[in-house]
Amino acid sequence: MSNNTTITDEQLSQTSTTISEIRLFIEKLRKDLPEIFDANGAPVKDGENAAASSDKTLYLGLPYIVRVEEAEQTAACPKLTETEIIMSVKKEDIPSANALLDGWMRARAQETLTQKVQTWAQKMGLTYNRITVKDQKSLWASCSNKSNLNFCWRVIKAPEPVIDYLVVHELSHIIHMNHSQDFWNTVGLWCPEYKSHRKWLREFRNELMSGSGVSGPQENEENGQPNDDE
Ligand SMILES: [Zn+2]
Repeated sequence: MSNNTTITDEQLSQTSTTISEIRLFIEKLRKDLPEIFDANGAPVKDGENAAASSDKTLYLGLPYIVRVEEAEQTAACPKLTETEIIMSVKKEDIPSANALLDGWMRARAQETLTQKVQTWAQKMGLTYNRITVKDQKSLWASCSNKSNLNFCWRVIKAPEPVIDYLVVHELSHIIHMNHSQDFWNTVGLWCPEYKSHRKWLREFRNELMSGSGVSGPQENEENGQPNDDE
């Protein structure tokens, strides 16, 4: 067998069967465990709108393959399927497709965080001054002593319960401007699962910060006082 370099029709037919079985298996894996696939694991797309590039990202805690399609016009919003975020862009916009996706996520972050802060502030009986969503790289979020809340837009990649935890954390700083036991008791009152959400943020830090060549916050305000960046 080792000296035989020719492949018989029978062997070829067996090989094809095996390849199609492997393809089916990979497709099943892609569906069940999309997070284990990277850009190189994405299937090749046929047709003239073939993927110009592909990547992966989290959005609201779910893993997506990011697919960039060449189109006549650049669409303002990407299309979301169960497994893909599809960016339709003009040829000249292909190099900036990642920046366009970041911009869309940032707008979703602004909308989601504004709504969540309003809802949680009302529940907790607190008033805040202003919400700012930005690309801060040292902290996921912060609260100034003037009750201004700041969030890194990348938190939109986290599951909603984790985003809720960050909102509760920052609003709790309106009562306690520190990380004392009283502070954590307040957080725990509104968000009993906060420890697992903090763990999630530590574990997925790189995934949340990926795509822009930046390094993420090392901890969520682990080192003492919340940031007062007024
Ligand atoms: Zn804090």
